[in-house]
Amino acid sequence: MRAELAGEIEALRRRGIVPGLTVVLVGENPASQVYVRMKGKACEDAGMKSDTIRLPAETPEADLLALIDRLNADATVHGILMQLPLPKHINANRVLHRIRPDKDVDGFHPENVGKVSVGDPTGFRPATPYGVQQLLVRSGVETKGAHAVIVGRSNIVGRPMASLLLQDGPGGNATVTVCHSRTRDLPAVTRLADILIVAMGKAEFVTGDMVRPGAVVIDVGVNRVEDPTAPKGYRLVGDVAYEAAREVAAAITPVPGGVGPMTITMLLYNTVQAARQ
Ligand code: NDP
Repeated sequence: MRAELAGEIEALRRRGIVPGLTVVLVGENPASQVYVRMKGKACEDAGMKSDTIRLPAETPEADLLALIDRLNADATVHGILMQLPLPKHINANRVLHRIRPDKDVDGFHPENVGKVSVGDPTGFRPATPYGVQQLLVRSGVETKGAHAVIVGRSNIVGRPMASLLLQDGPGGNATVTVCHSRTRDLPAVTRLADILIVAMGKAEFVTGDMVRPGAVVIDVGVNRVEDPTAPKGYRLVGDVAYEAAREVAAAITPVPGGVGPMTITMLLYNTVQAARQ
């Protein structure tokens, strides 16, 4: 997919347009710092312009809004990404809603949420669920008529995932069930899934017996668990107990290495789409 994108970036560059992404990071959340670095590097590797603006954790909300206004007005900035989470004193919705919808490559502005929900292709699809959908399509997993069970209903993953799988088109037409913390008898529901997508943020919560034999499992979760034998003192695991689930699943994504790289790839796609539009 990144090779496909390279051709399109080259074509834009020949017209004098270099797709540009600006990432804004407020504070020093260690995981966010890693993600921001990876996003910047992916942009540069792809021949795009990338800028990262790092602000101290105590930045007032008004200053952040003023920065967004400047980026909104800057014609060389095609995409603006606010790295989440934001510090507690900042109203994340107010900030996300300030980003111009046509630069909102994360797809969190209500205008894009609405467009994606009604299947308007000019809306930006949030990178993580968009990446999951592409992973399914390009791995030849048929979503049409399949029962897709999503565990998690966040605005970042679960809800937009449901919208994408419901659409009438490739990677859509699934029968979708969305589960959350108040779902009664979660294992009984996950066992109905042809495609099980887990985005809970709970380390190895989904055990092998919660997976229907032959199901396709997409593990979105990224959790740090302590591990004194690991060089950094921790390792990353998903929301699914990988070894047990792979015994029963037809296919499963690993953590790290599955949904994460797809998320970054789709961010590049969205930035190129922003530049093109
Ligand atoms: P949130 O914390 O916003 O949402 C978690 C969801 O899981 C909620 O809807 C919650 O239900 C549900 N949930 C929690 N516990 C249970 C339970 N016991 N039974 C059923 N449902 C439960 O998380 P995000 O959606 O932002 O992220 C989910 C995971 O995905 C995290 O590990 C995150 O790090 C990872 N992630 C990975 C990305 C990538 O690029 N690979 C990108 C984005 C996220 P309720 O709403 O009822 O509280």
